[in-house]
Amino acid sequence: MHILRLHWHMKRKNRNFFTIFAPVFLLLTMVLFDTHNHSQFSFDGKRASVETSARSAMQKGLGGIVFTDHCDFFVPEMKARSEGTVKEVFDIAHQQEEIDRVQRLIDKNGGFRILKGIEIGMHENHHEDISRILSENRFDQITASVHYLDGIDPFYGGYYEGKDWKYAYGHYLETIFKEMKWLKDFDVLGHYDYIVRYAPYDVTSIKYKDFSDILDEIFKHLIHNGKALEINTKSYREHNGRKVTPDYDTLMRYRELGGEIICFGSDSHEPERVGDNFSLHAQMMKAYGFRWSAHFHLRKLVQLPL
Ligand SMILES: [Zn+2]
Ligand SMILES: [Zn+2]
Repeated sequence: MHILRLHWHMKRKNRNFFTIFAPVFLLLTMVLFDTHNHSQFSFDGKRASVETSARSAMQKGLGGIVFTDHCDFFVPEMKARSEGTVKEVFDIAHQQEEIDRVQRLIDKNGGFRILKGIEIGMHENHHEDISRILSENRFDQITASVHYLDGIDPFYGGYYEGKDWKYAYGHYLETIFKEMKWLKDFDVLGHYDYIVRYAPYDVTSIKYKDFSDILDEIFKHLIHNGKALEINTKSYREHNGRKVTPDYDTLMRYRELGGEIICFGSDSHEPERVGDNFSLHAQMMKAYGFRWSAHFHLRKLVQLPL
């Protein structure tokens, strides 16, 4: 009541107040979930923990956080670099117990939700292992990603050697499509533009005009099967002096085909980065005509108004 009165008073004093601050108020009414985060249970998540990242999400006014720790059955380069510390499968039981503990600790009533996810690295040589892990465990959300192709994670740079941008990006998209058609059992397609993040080229977007056929195939498959397209805000940070930008035409095409399910993921590996740049990207997606942000609870789609 006091706050409302204060606003009313200020409005009287300055008629431009609401014009100037309207976007801020709009944003405060928007409830977003960060649907892609790594905790201490990921081999590269030692700077984060379920508790610190969940508290950070709560402080930032998010409605909930999903921990999607890594499960990649093919990580040769990472193993070579940090032998003994890299596990293919994270300790799922322990992660889920920790999520339950932190949920009880910071919000018993579940007004703020901490959800149990996995980021499964799709790889053609490990279909059996992937199916086994997904069928043996219960998750709120399964995020499917491609990290390795041609035996290399693009993160290490070697993938790009001897390839032009068109082939390097296109091959990634083709691999995503092939693997997601095989996997079927997932909720969210993770970072479709991961391949651009660490690339050395001047081309800094997955542009619809360059990859229209394969993007159409991927989007139609997602839409037809009720899966979400992830807006991964880590991809749009600066990496090696380059900044990847989301392509307007790509996102508009997804919408034009009937794509309505989008979720926001920071891909955080430290608590400070939880919800990173969500305001900007949520406003952008709203301006593009998207009406909902999505997350998954017990594998069921939940959509909240943008
Ligand atoms: Zn990933
Ligand atoms: Zn990730």
